[in-house]
Amino acid sequence: MPDESSRWGFETRAIHAGQQPDSRTGSVIVPIYATSTFLQDGVGGVRDGGHEYSRTTNPTRSALEEALAALEGGRHALAFASGMAASDVALRTLTRPGDHVILGSDAYGGTFRLLDKVLAHWGVGYTSVNLSDVDSVKAAVRPNTKVIWCESPTNPLLGIADIAALAGVAAGAGARLVVDNTFATPYLQSPLGLGADVVLHSTTKYLGGHSDVVGGALITSDDELREQFFFLRNAVGAVPSPFDSWLVLRGAKTLALRMERHSDNAERIVEALTGHPKITKVYYPGLPDHPGHEIAAKQMRRFGGMVSIAVAGGEQAALDVAARTKLFFLAESLGGVESLIEHPGKMTHASTTGSPLQVPGDVLRLSVGIEDGADLVADLLQALG
Ligand code: PLP
Repeated sequence: MPDESSRWGFETRAIHAGQQPDSRTGSVIVPIYATSTFLQDGVGGVRDGGHEYSRTTNPTRSALEEALAALEGGRHALAFASGMAASDVALRTLTRPGDHVILGSDAYGGTFRLLDKVLAHWGVGYTSVNLSDVDSVKAAVRPNTKVIWCESPTNPLLGIADIAALAGVAAGAGARLVVDNTFATPYLQSPLGLGADVVLHSTTKYLGGHSDVVGGALITSDDELREQFFFLRNAVGAVPSPFDSWLVLRGAKTLALRMERHSDNAERIVEALTGHPKITKVYYPGLPDHPGHEIAAKQMRRFGGMVSIAVAGGEQAALDVAARTKLFFLAESLGGVESLIEHPGKMTHASTTGSPLQVPGDVLRLSVGIEDGADLVADLLQALG
């Protein structure tokens, strides 16, 4: 991050970091550099911008990366074609055959599938552990543990891990702590400042913010790791297009405003559903009786826009509620301006069925949007019947 932008507040960084007006045309908005290649001044004569071929670097993507690094308070960011592409590059950089990863017992289903069904064939093992229990994490560390992979809040049960404590465990074990900050976003939580080595994002979610792009990112302050991630991303070509990079950059400008509103609406819904006769449990770290509430209050600015609920009557009752909402669209993904509802057990987390990470059938996950909060509450109440 350049010196000047490190002094700016979050909202200023979101709008200005990496986003100077175009020097040639004065375009206030970073252009979409839809080009695969760049003119060279003689063989090997790469011009000042340093761009050569768009799998390696592209100016629109570079602007996004500068902005993401500034938002997470890291020295480097790399953008990817998806969150999973970023996860794959991170895991294959940080492990070798014979190595071991500690994964949260409530991890995103795709991350679980990557370890369980793909990296397992390359001899990388994993143990899933409840990351909110630091002693269990310590007990799971092996001599060959290279990565502790943490989500906080978790997807979909909104568990909270103490990031600073896990950073201590990782450092003591000679492992790296990777924090998937997709749910919290850099506006609500800064894992690098808490000691994490790498932050991962599915920029598909809150950073993009409008459900119109799929992307991912890795952010780190470690120069060597950045070079290794950059090498593997270029080697396998896991890059976002200039247009997709631009969409994420545009979305990120309003992240702070959106996260405030997502959090307001989520709090309103939590208040309306807590104690409702058709709901047996509300999962939200902002609730004082949530087991991770104190840690969340310490490491997060607010508690975010994701809420999960357990529906009385079990799986069928939950599926019926999901079929009856009107404003909450029944769809996978999260973090857009519109509200979404989904059944993790049958949708986003179906790949965990039969594993220790399986999500209970009565659980529904809500991605609370930025619509009028009263309308959202009314929609859920009518769906609950
Ligand atoms: N991490 C979390 C917490 C997610 O929710 C997701 C997607 O839902 C991913 C990673 C993967 O991101 P993508 O879908 O952009 O590949």
